[in-house]
Amino acid sequence: EGGGNMADSGEGDPGSLRGPGAGGLALLGLAPGAPSCPHGPALLFVKTSQGQEEGRRFYACSACRDRKDCNFFQWEDEKVSETRLAAREEYNRKHQPFFTHKQNVERYKNFVLLPLSKRRFCQECQQLLLPAEWEKHSDHQFLCDISTAQLKSPSQLLYPLENKKTNAQYLFADRSCQFLLNLIIDLGFRRVLSVGTPRLHEIIQSKASQEEDFRVRSLLLDIDFRYSQFYAEDEFCHYNMFNHYFFGGEAARETCRKFLYQDNGERVIMVTDPPFGGLVEALASSFKKLMAMWKETEKKGHNNQEMPIFWIFPYFFESRILEFFPSFSMMDYQVDYDNHALYKHGKTGRRQSPVRIFTNLTPSMIVLPEEEGYRFCAICQRYVSSGNQHCEICNSCTSKDGRRWKHCVLCKKCVKPSWFHCNNCNCCALQNHTCEKTDAGCFVCGKAGHKRSTCPSLSRP
Ligand code: SAH
Ligand code: ZN
Ligand code: ZN
Ligand code: ZN
Ligand code: ZN
Repeated sequence: EGGGNMADSGEGDPGSLRGPGAGGLALLGLAPGAPSCPHGPALLFVKTSQGQEEGRRFYACSACRDRKDCNFFQWEDEKVSETRLAAREEYNRKHQPFFTHKQNVERYKNFVLLPLSKRRFCQECQQLLLPAEWEKHSDHQFLCDISTAQLKSPSQLLYPLENKKTNAQYLFADRSCQFLLNLIIDLGFRRVLSVGTPRLHEIIQSKASQEEDFRVRSLLLDIDFRYSQFYAEDEFCHYNMFNHYFFGGEAARETCRKFLYQDNGERVIMVTDPPFGGLVEALASSFKKLMAMWKETEKKGHNNQEMPIFWIFPYFFESRILEFFPSFSMMDYQVDYDNHALYKHGKTGRRQSPVRIFTNLTPSMIVLPEEEGYRFCAICQRYVSSGNQHCEICNSCTSKDGRRWKHCVLCKKCVKPSWFHCNNCNCCALQNHTCEKTDAGCFVCGKAGHKRSTCPSLSRP
C-alpha cells in the first residue's frame, strides 16, 4: 500500500501539477500531525482554480514529484484504519535503505583496508562491495581498483540521478565549484552547511584531508543516501529539504545543530542547490528552520543577523525567492554544470546558464571574476555581467540573463533585447507573439500556453 489509492481519487496526478498557478495545486505546507511516507511527513495540498481553493485537501509526498518514485496519497479528512496505519508503518520501514549509515561507515572502514585489487564498486547497486558480497553481484557491472582518490570524489563515482525528476542531480562544473569555494574562503567562512551540494562538500572534505592549513569544514545534508557510504555521521546527514526531515532522527538533528554552533568565531554559511522543479515555498520553510537552528545555537543571539546563505537557483525564480526572503539579492554570476549541456558557460559558444546565486550577504562583497567577464558597477555597488548595462532611467543594471536589455519608456522598465512594445497588449513581448490577454500564464516563466510542470525553462530535463 502507498497510503491510499490515487487511481480512484479522480483528481489527477498531484505529482505533476504542483504550484499555485492557474488551475494548479497550492501547497498548504507541513501540517502538524501529517501522515508520513518513506520520505518523512507528507505535505498538504489543495487543488486551485483561478487562485481559489477548490475541493478536498490532501497529503502527498514532499520529495517526489514523480508518482513512480512515491505514490503516497491521503485525503486530509480521510479516516485511516488501524490496520492500514500499521501496514503503512511497515511499508515505510521496508522502504528505508538496506544498510544504516552506521553500518555503511563500518563497511567503509573495512573497504579501505582492502588492497586495491579487491576494491570493487557495483554500478548497478551503486554500492561499495566487500569480497564476501562479490558472489551476489556476479552478474552486475562493477568497477575495479577503486582508488583513494575515487573514494574522495563520490560524486564522480556515483551516477547522477538525473533521469529521475525526484533527485535531479546536476553537478557543478569544476570552474563554478572552485569559484564558490574561493568566494566562501575569501569571505572568511570556516564552515559550510552543504544542503544538496555534494560536489561542493566533496572538494571541501578532500582539501581538508590533504592540505594541513585548510581550515574549512562541511556538513552535507542530502536525500541521496548513497553518500552515506563515503562519509561519517558527522559529515553527512540523510535529509529531506522539502519537509526539513532528518531521516536519522534526533541524533542527526543534533549533528547539524552542533555543526551550526560557531565556536571561536568560525563563521558558518549555508549553500544550497535544490532541484529546480521543487516547491519554493517548501524549500523556504525548511531553510527558515535551518536558519532558526543556527540562531538558537548562540544564546546571546546574533544581533538580529541571519545565517548567511547562498541559494543557487534559476533567475526566473527571483520574485518567488524574494517573496520569502526579502533580504536576498540575486547575483549575476552564472553557475555552470557538468552534466547539463545547456547550462555551460556562454563564453564557450554554448548557451548561457540561467542559474544564479541568491544571497543575504551584502552584494558588494560578492566579487565576481573579471576574467570571466564580470565588472563592478559603482552605482549599483555590485558585480554584474559585462553585457549588463546600467540603465540611467531605472538607475540599476537591469539585465537578468547577461544580455544587454533595453529600456521601454511605455513599460517604464527594461526588457529583453528581443522584445518590442505591443500597443495591443500594452506591454513588451516578442515580435511574433499572439495578442491576447492571458492571465493564465505559466507560474514559472509567466508565458502563456503551458503550465509550470511543462515549462521549457525548467528543462533541467
Ligand atoms: N550542483 C550541486 C548538486 C545539485 S543537484 C553539486 O554539484 O554539488 C540537487 C541535489 O539535491 C542533489 O544532490 C540531490 O540528491 C539533492 N536533493 C534532491 N531532492 C532532495 C531533497 N528532497 N532533500 C534533500 N536533497 C535533495
Ligand atoms: Zn514519499
Ligand atoms: Zn550489484
Ligand atoms: Zn531601464
Ligand atoms: Zn514596452
